[in-house]
Amino acid sequence: MNAKAGHRFDTVLADALLADGSTVSIGITAGRIAAIDAALPAGGDAMSLGGSLVLPGLIDAHVHLDKSLVGDAWQSHRRGTSATFSVMERVAIEAEILGRAAPVEQRAAALIELAVAHGTTRMRSHVDIDPVTGLKSLHAVLAARERYKHAASIEIVAFPQRGLVSCPGTLELMDAALREGADLVGGLDPSGVDHDVDGQLDAVFGLAQRHAAGIDIHLHDAAGEGLAELDEIARRTKAVGMAGSVNVSHAYALGMVPEADAQRTAEKLADAGVSILTNAPGNHAYPSVMQLREAGVTVIAGNDNIRDAWWPYGDADMLERAMLIAYGSGFLTDEELAVALDLATHSAARALRVDDYGVHAGAPADLIVVPARNVAEAVVARPARSHVFKAGKLVARDGKYVGH
Ligand SMILES: [Zn+2]
Repeated sequence: MNAKAGHRFDTVLADALLADGSTVSIGITAGRIAAIDAALPAGGDAMSLGGSLVLPGLIDAHVHLDKSLVGDAWQSHRRGTSATFSVMERVAIEAEILGRAAPVEQRAAALIELAVAHGTTRMRSHVDIDPVTGLKSLHAVLAARERYKHAASIEIVAFPQRGLVSCPGTLELMDAALREGADLVGGLDPSGVDHDVDGQLDAVFGLAQRHAAGIDIHLHDAAGEGLAELDEIARRTKAVGMAGSVNVSHAYALGMVPEADAQRTAEKLADAGVSILTNAPGNHAYPSVMQLREAGVTVIAGNDNIRDAWWPYGDADMLERAMLIAYGSGFLTDEELAVALDLATHSAARALRVDDYGVHAGAPADLIVVPARNVAEAVVARPARSHVFKAGKLVARDGKYVGH
């Protein structure tokens, strides 16, 4: 039946402002957007959005659900004592703090609810896999994923936080994690942590091939060293035909070298189909979002550490993250602010290989409602999301998670 000829929808969102400036009604049936038109007959639950902006559900493409202390007592940040930043020193502090923290599943649940309240309907979480943790955190995050599948789609990266080839037993545990539900293979500073670039990348790409899994590597290694690793990741991605399935998180090196050097590597990443994720850290150089995009690289965003042993900040809000990226990148115009949002919406959907993402007929009804007059204002003002829908079901209202 033609939608205009009296088709009843499960839900109709009337007086909805779209990013292109048009005001429409959105008909939702069986969890999907069934029709978008200037006016639709009301049916089922009809609600007027009063001209608020409707955006697709936000994507947080980098969180650590096992590390966050959201939902637990406040933990004061503890600085490392060594003169130079040491990942392993931080890992030791973290192990001590998490040893006294609430169970992983409880903290992961609290962080998921906070993220959903802010309009995140999809996230990629790294989960520590190492001989001390074993698969305990993975199992807890898998349980949280199952419990909240009505509210958020969560994919899991098996993350070798203590090193991969330099930490005996980790490779076998990573293999087990991928058998038991992890979706992607993680990596961490092949040079800086493992001191063996080929060794770690052989292991990461080997696991990915064996499990038909994607790859997401944390790369903080600096300047020329990090750039050479990016070149090598691009080369390997192309060689094994994994275009579109490999992401590098942080890639600080791109923001630490002369522009022409970054440009050469950006072109290799674009050619190989390797995406780059940034959270625009306030205390470190990071890649130029615009330079990468203009070179054809898919750039995406994530909150990364949220109130954990690494970092006391964060609210699991991807509009806030978009604002921080825009702020740090010197974005001022409406078009630039829209780019910041794109990192957490359409570009992220492309990098995470989400089919049929967006506000259009046929797409899953993962939608958020923001009391803003346009995308630029949404990014700058970050008003509380008045409604968050996952597959057509209301999962958050007025900035609060509402459960089932
Ligand atoms: Zn991370």
